[in-house]
Amino acid sequence: MRIVDKVKRKKWMIQALAQASLAEKTSLTKGFLNKKQFYPTKKVQADITNLIYCMLCPNMCRFECPVVETSKIETHSPAIKSRIAYYLEMNLLDKSAETLQPLFEGCLHCSACKAWCPFDFAVGDLLEDVTVDLFQNLKKYPQKLQDFTIRIQTNNGLYQKEQLKKATKLLHALPKEGELYYFPGCVTMRNHPEVIEGIIQIAKKAGVKLVSLTDEHVCCGAPSLYLGDQEKAKELAKHNKELFKKSKAKAILCECPECAYTLKEKYPELGSKVKLPVLHVVEWLWDLFEKEKLSFRFSNKKIEKILESGPISYHDPCVLSRKLHIYDQTYCLLATIFQEQFKEITYSKEQTHCCGFGGLVNIANHQLADAIATKRLAEFQDEGIQTIITSCPTCLYGFQKNNPELTFELFDLVEIVSKLMDD
Ligand code: SF4
Ligand code: SF4
Repeated sequence: MRIVDKVKRKKWMIQALAQASLAEKTSLTKGFLNKKQFYPTKKVQADITNLIYCMLCPNMCRFECPVVETSKIETHSPAIKSRIAYYLEMNLLDKSAETLQPLFEGCLHCSACKAWCPFDFAVGDLLEDVTVDLFQNLKKYPQKLQDFTIRIQTNNGLYQKEQLKKATKLLHALPKEGELYYFPGCVTMRNHPEVIEGIIQIAKKAGVKLVSLTDEHVCCGAPSLYLGDQEKAKELAKHNKELFKKSKAKAILCECPECAYTLKEKYPELGSKVKLPVLHVVEWLWDLFEKEKLSFRFSNKKIEKILESGPISYHDPCVLSRKLHIYDQTYCLLATIFQEQFKEITYSKEQTHCCGFGGLVNIANHQLADAIATKRLAEFQDEGIQTIITSCPTCLYGFQKNNPELTFELFDLVEIVSKLMDD
């Protein structure tokens, strides 16, 4: 954000201070001079200064927060979560499953609050550092999150190897050394092997040599970071960095936005900076399209079936649009494929609304995740959309789970492109 914009956003604070009474100004000055009393005595990971700013803010971003907008529970609103986090850091609240629950079930880490924040905060980012401090008392976490932590630590990922058989079989067909390292996300491996199949097919037809070290594959570490399990995240990052090196690949391909974001932005903080370019699949497809390596067959029968089902739109995954700023290429591709049948809905691109399955909400409170997904699907229904395409395995999973009447046709962008390339 430009400095001019930052000053503009903070103008209201200058005006508010100018209007304060002498007593209020004196009290503010005293507080400022004795500010040490508002900080923990021992060193913590949390950004206490920014938590204080956030907890004292009028909290207007609450109207953009999909969690509090759905649950109507005040402890889910952004500034109140910051307040709970601050009180926990200051030992002014007991650390118990009940106190910690709103921090985990109440934040999708979707960054919607950032769009309206005068300080440019995303509460999800502030909470990530807080959970590193809280993780020292893992036994005080809600039971479901303790179990989830053990699950990741045991499996080096979200699932057991037996649950990933189909995906593993597909990936075994790839060589161990090559040009582009394919890093599949845990949710794709478990729930969407058709996406893996699609990526392999597209690469084959475009003449790209994909590589994967499937037997040694582990999670990217994003869920461990949400839990505050920094040690596990560091271990996973180090392992993955070594795999990339071993493969001799020139770039890394992720179909999960969360994996791409973690590899790009979080690995340097974890001491495992990846020097290779990390591409989300949308960037890869766009690059192939521009180089004329994606040749579409518009008469394809499977696509005709999708076209018959009515208006088609796209759900922007929060991490892809708001954290990685990838959307223009997607809309160009979809408009090229579906032409006038493609319709961009009101809440799109950086103004997208979360699917409900971000962060650990689905683990901490799956009913709430389902309610948020249902709300997002209703937005598509209100705009007369019958087919929704997305580019995130978790969004796709959340929507599939909450589409019991099969109101919508749901696809990953990879499936669409690979169908178009069918003979
Ligand atoms: S995220 Fe920004 S706008 Fe929202 S409550 Fe915190 S400081 Fe205020
Ligand atoms: S990151 Fe998303 S879910 Fe979390 S407080 Fe901000 S708007 Fe709400």
